[in-house]
Amino acid sequence: MSAQASGAISAHGGGELADLKAPAAERTKLGAHAAGLPSVTLSSRDLADLEMLASGAFSPLTGFMTEADYVRSRDDMRLASGVPWSIPITLGVEQAQAAKLKPGADVALAAEDGTRLAILKLAEIFQVDRKREAEAVFGTPDENHPGAKNVIATPPCCLAGRVILFAEIPGRTFIEYRLEPRQTRAAFAERGWKKIVAFQTRNPAHRAHEYIQKAALEICDGLLLHPLVGETKGDDVPAAVRMETYKVLLDLYYPKNRAMLSVLPAHMRYGGPREAILHAIMRRNYGCTHFIVGRDHAGVGNYYGTYDAQKLFERFSPAEIGITPLMFENTFYCRHCAGMASYKTCPHGDADRLILSGTKVREMLQKGEAPPPEFTRPEIAAILVEAMRVKG
Ligand SMILES: [Zn+2]
Repeated sequence: MSAQASGAISAHGGGELADLKAPAAERTKLGAHAAGLPSVTLSSRDLADLEMLASGAFSPLTGFMTEADYVRSRDDMRLASGVPWSIPITLGVEQAQAAKLKPGADVALAAEDGTRLAILKLAEIFQVDRKREAEAVFGTPDENHPGAKNVIATPPCCLAGRVILFAEIPGRTFIEYRLEPRQTRAAFAERGWKKIVAFQTRNPAHRAHEYIQKAALEICDGLLLHPLVGETKGDDVPAAVRMETYKVLLDLYYPKNRAMLSVLPAHMRYGGPREAILHAIMRRNYGCTHFIVGRDHAGVGNYYGTYDAQKLFERFSPAEIGITPLMFENTFYCRHCAGMASYKTCPHGDADRLILSGTKVREMLQKGEAPPPEFTRPEIAAILVEAMRVKG
């Protein structure tokens, strides 16, 4: 059944989900074909992009971007077709390697250990200016910005074309929770959910996150707690620890038939507003109808204004984004309100509000101190204290 026929939200761009995985019956043959092709080794971030492409999470993309898609997504946040797309998805290779390849030919894409995983139908080879790309996407070419640093370190020579995945991507974690867009869509249908809100996160779950999720759940049928588990910067809390906090949170504080945990295998770009748009687009492909955009979504350091991500959605019509962004304020526990609240709902002052910076929470955890229960559920604080305590 097609996505539209079942009443579910269409894939981004209005069509069907891309499916770039070879049928099981053709995999051996494609593997043999790939064995005789020139091969390109993928970085861990390239592999994550390949997985997102193959599963349809990057629909309507069917491969690494052509120059026309690249230029328009960089300059105008759209594909050449006009469909919104806020961050270029490219496969960068060294010039010497590209010089041996010809458009029109097939290229094998391989993991770092040399295992061939996919075929790239090489359509174009083109050169880009990575500094210009970083400036457009992140608002800065500053290499202290983790996303800009990664982009600038990527070779400027790009291979474009459709990909066909014929083998399992190695090193995939959290398999039990690694549902692809077709699988989350089936899971929502099975539960009878029509309005599904997605929550993107790369942080442990604190009360403020729980409050926002539940506020959104009041107007939706189900919540997809959708943590990003691809590469993050070194000082973010490791995905395995975060996953423990999400499982405990859902188990103890959410109705079983209203919330679901699944992981997003994408890598984190720290692209702030532009990445918020991409995060929303991906969740539409996973079948979600609503998407939570918090303050400083996908931000890092002081590169973006608190509400820049929320404002950027205004650049697009609701119909072309498709998924509905739900914008949230800073939330906290207020002693005077005796409950969770936000700047929007609480009339009191900061003296009544329990507000702890990320740095402060980190210091507490490293000293083995649990944040107060109004900030973090005790069961989650215990996991974080155990994981973060400076051993020795
Ligand atoms: Zn208050």
